[in-house]
Amino acid sequence: MNLRYEGFSTAQQGIIAADYARMLTMADRTLGHGAPLVTWFGAADRDMLMRRLRAMHTVVHAPNRTITFVNRIGGVLKVEYKSLYNAQLMPENSPGVDLQGVYAYVFPTDRRDEFGTGNTGGVMSHVGSGMRIYLADEYFSGDDAERASTIYHEVTHKVLCTEDYSYERDECLSFAATPAKAMGNAENYGFFLRAC
Ligand SMILES: [Zn+2]
Repeated sequence: MNLRYEGFSTAQQGIIAADYARMLTMADRTLGHGAPLVTWFGAADRDMLMRRLRAMHTVVHAPNRTITFVNRIGGVLKVEYKSLYNAQLMPENSPGVDLQGVYAYVFPTDRRDEFGTGNTGGVMSHVGSGMRIYLADEYFSGDDAERASTIYHEVTHKVLCTEDYSYERDECLSFAATPAKAMGNAENYGFFLRAC
């Protein structure tokens, strides 16, 4: 993967590059079946789940792809959903835009025409906008594993059409009882990565 940066200092670029490298090491470990898989995805169909994890593994290691990390610290823009299929980047001071607690985000793309509406991960993927990941105010406040999993979380939106049903640990854990929901929730992959 080629990494590009917009608006980051050399020191910040170094941190992000190290986070990406750490994420790759963790992503390698996701391919081994194990206890964390059960914790975060319950009885999810193993073939289906491993296809997703391998798809992620392939993309994050792809030598000819580029991810651009964009500095949105200080909150210039954020993706807001006017409705599920009408997402847009909103100026910071738009009504309802609150960047407190935001780690990162990506711009979604409606893929109903390609995937139909029955895809377990939803139909809002993120590849159409290019691989741009907007890092927000909380990004650098996370620990090493958290920053690595934030990147992985964002890439699952792009590759697996995941949604943000919840970021809360307990709620994400509860999704394991309904594997389709667990497989469709970005932060379940984030927590899973951290456990690998
Ligand atoms: Zn997300």
